[in-house]
Amino acid sequence: MAIIEVSNLQKSYDKLEVLKKISFDVNKNDVVAVIGPSGSGKSTMLRSLVHLEEINGGTISVSGETLVRAGVYSKPQEVKQITSKMGMVFQHFNLFPHLTVKENLELAPRMVKKESFADIQARSAELLEKIGLSDRAAAYPGKISGGQKQRVAIARALMMNPEILLFDEPTSALDPELTGEVLQVMKNLAEEQMTMIVVTHEMGFAKEVANRVIFMDNGEIIESGHPTELFANPRLDRTKAFLKRNLK
Ligand code: ADP
Ligand code: MG
Repeated sequence: MAIIEVSNLQKSYDKLEVLKKISFDVNKNDVVAVIGPSGSGKSTMLRSLVHLEEINGGTISVSGETLVRAGVYSKPQEVKQITSKMGMVFQHFNLFPHLTVKENLELAPRMVKKESFADIQARSAELLEKIGLSDRAAAYPGKISGGQKQRVAIARALMMNPEILLFDEPTSALDPELTGEVLQVMKNLAEEQMTMIVVTHEMGFAKEVANRVIFMDNGEIIESGHPTELFANPRLDRTKAFLKRNLK
């Protein structure tokens, strides 16, 4: 079942067309790795899904509900409700520096005011345990490592019980020795059947964890397929050249 449906998504910054009518579906429980050279539109695509960018044309729906159809957005209230099904994890963590780890997790659910503080605290404790950071609940982001910050950012996204998690190069800002702990948390989520779209340069992760790889170049989806197939037998020269540079 398609949980995200994108068709003819078009986005320009002034005269620069950065997404050239791209179309793809994501099914429930998919782990989709999005790869491609810098500037190919990967972040813009991801940000468009959660309405951090306004698109110029095309249709996006999530769980059968229309976010935008033929470039026309649904009512703000609906847009808010639809985008709340998705959580986003950024390259640079975007934690609130003046809040502790625990407060970072609890802020958004407290603002939404749908559940008791006791329930929110129970969930933050559970998620901190899950990412192995129960002992750092009272620490400020400035006092923990980059890998720990990114694990906190993932837990914070999970606090809102998203149906889908989006990751934009979650390990690109980390020292190499810290990427493993973040990828492990993501791998655990995949094993728990979390639906994920992951923009990444980690080809090992794409190979091992993704069930689909989308290769983007110059604002288009050039090629997509199962990682085993795509990495072993890329059809197009552009994919071959990219993989040659990036597969170790
Ligand atoms: P990627 O994530 O694949 O590196 P991006 O989606 O960040 O690619 O960028 C795609 C293109 O859009 C690039 O040419 C980039 O310079 C341009 N771009 C991204 N954001 C903006 C912006 N806010 N204003 C103008 N151009 C932008
Ligand atoms: Mg990017």
